[in-house]
Amino acid sequence: MNLNILVLPGDGIGTEVTREAVRVLRHAARKWNHNLKITEGLLGGIAIHKTGNPLPEETVRLAGDADATLMGAVGLAEFDNAPPEKRPEKGLLGIRKVLGVYANLRPVRAYGALLDSSPLKNERVAGTDMIIVRELTGGIYYGTPRGITESGGETRAVNTMVYTRAEIERVGRMAFHLAGGRRKKVTSVDKSNVLENSQLWRRVVTEIGREFPDVALDHILVDNCAMQLVLNPTRFDVVLTENMFGDILSDEGAVLAGSIGMLPSASIGERKASGAWVGLYEPVHGSAPDIAGQNKANPLGAIGSVAAMLEYSFGLKKEAAAVNGAVEAVLESGRVTADLKPTGTPATTEQVGEAVCAAIG
Ligand code: NAD
Repeated sequence: MNLNILVLPGDGIGTEVTREAVRVLRHAARKWNHNLKITEGLLGGIAIHKTGNPLPEETVRLAGDADATLMGAVGLAEFDNAPPEKRPEKGLLGIRKVLGVYANLRPVRAYGALLDSSPLKNERVAGTDMIIVRELTGGIYYGTPRGITESGGETRAVNTMVYTRAEIERVGRMAFHLAGGRRKKVTSVDKSNVLENSQLWRRVVTEIGREFPDVALDHILVDNCAMQLVLNPTRFDVVLTENMFGDILSDEGAVLAGSIGMLPSASIGERKASGAWVGLYEPVHGSAPDIAGQNKANPLGAIGSVAAMLEYSFGLKKEAAAVNGAVEAVLESGRVTADLKPTGTPATTEQVGEAVCAAIG
């Protein structure tokens, strides 16, 4: 298969973890005979340094040409007081918009070797394996009217939660497709006891569910979902929810995995003529200036993002499973970075990347 990938390493540890993710990607492509084409582009602080713009035109062009984009992280302390247009993070929001990615997927897995780093009791978290599918471009973060007004001596603030049927349908179908390749269960999260917006959400998701008779659907209120994520996380397979609820629940889910350095994410848009799904893949963490340049960042979130890319953009499930299996083997071997508190000398970022390649075989 042709894998046409844009790589945007970004800033700080973004460059370090991306180097290892690319090492694993090259290794997997060689092993399974895929035709890999990698192009590198500028995003974030480094892009401001080189072009004056956190998202240069050239990067927008390259992203449009690629089947999928692998990103590191952006952010440099020197821009903390810069105007919003000149901040690295502007590039991040910009690239998401340019690619039109409307669903954010966060796989949450409790690895056996990391159970002790979870704040939950081992027996509760063991076996957790879910994907949170969050709608990314609608809802209360984008709805209008919005703003703060002063009138008659009173100050008023308004935000508006808006969804159209089409917006719910496309993210809903994605969740059911994903569930079809997993344990065949979608849990849709809403607040339909209070919000009309959620009533439409529930109605449309139920209709979409009829298109997927082999996938079970249940509905849960967001407050109960927040509770069930810590009480009984193994009950979830695919969790489908709107933008703000997903923002909150995915951070709650993130804690289950142990370290922020472990967490991959995928943001998916429409299907391209090549057959690949437009996707932006990145670890959840930021540029970590406190450990940047020291070869000690955990690259497993970035490497997990490569696995997500192989699976979701290209449908290469065997390859994705091999990368995820290798990550698990490396965790069990104890050859991990300092954030995972190994008993012996911590491994470097590079050593972990090499160990994952070796475990793939
Ligand atoms: P951060 O995720 O960069 O770091 C938080 C803490 O976690 C730090 O102590 C860091 O050392 C540790 N950490 C993060 N990733 C790690 C890894 N892979 N291995 C080991 N330890 C890891 O968050 P922050 O400190 O709040 O933000 C730093 C910069 O990153 C800021 O400029 C922020 O705007 C930016 N940021 C970017 C993204 C992104 O690009 N998607 C996300 C979050 C923050």
